[in-house]
Amino acid sequence: MNTATRTCTACGNTIKGRVDKKFCNDHCRNNHNNRLNSDTVNYIRNVNNILRRNRRILEELMEGVEKTVTLPKAVLDMKGYNFDFFTSLYLNERTKLDYYYCYEYGYAFIDEERCMLCRNIMSHLMKQMDMEQ
Ligand SMILES: [Zn+2]
Repeated sequence: MNTATRTCTACGNTIKGRVDKKFCNDHCRNNHNNRLNSDTVNYIRNVNNILRRNRRILEELMEGVEKTVTLPKAVLDMKGYNFDFFTSLYLNERTKLDYYYCYEYGYAFIDEERCMLCRNIMSHLMKQMDMEQ
């Protein structure tokens, strides 16, 4: 029998019993799983909040704009836009610009300092959603 000391993944206490045991008991196992789950839930909530804020900023900046508007990147920075998060990426073959979308709002960098904002419901996505219904 393997007598190597093992410790509980949840509480760190020494475990006795089967070699493959990772927890003292069901209580520790549940605690551990709940903690993992709540980390995941928190992460998803934080990402959702960032995406929602990004979308709100773009919506605000595009209020009353028919098609596109070009703004200094600094304006988005000032409003707290988080450029690390977006919902989809679209390369415009004609302009060779990458459009980063946050739901139906998007932007593309036209140079180092300026970005162009646009609004576009992704038609291919809508078709897909129709098919799934
Ligand atoms: Zn334990």
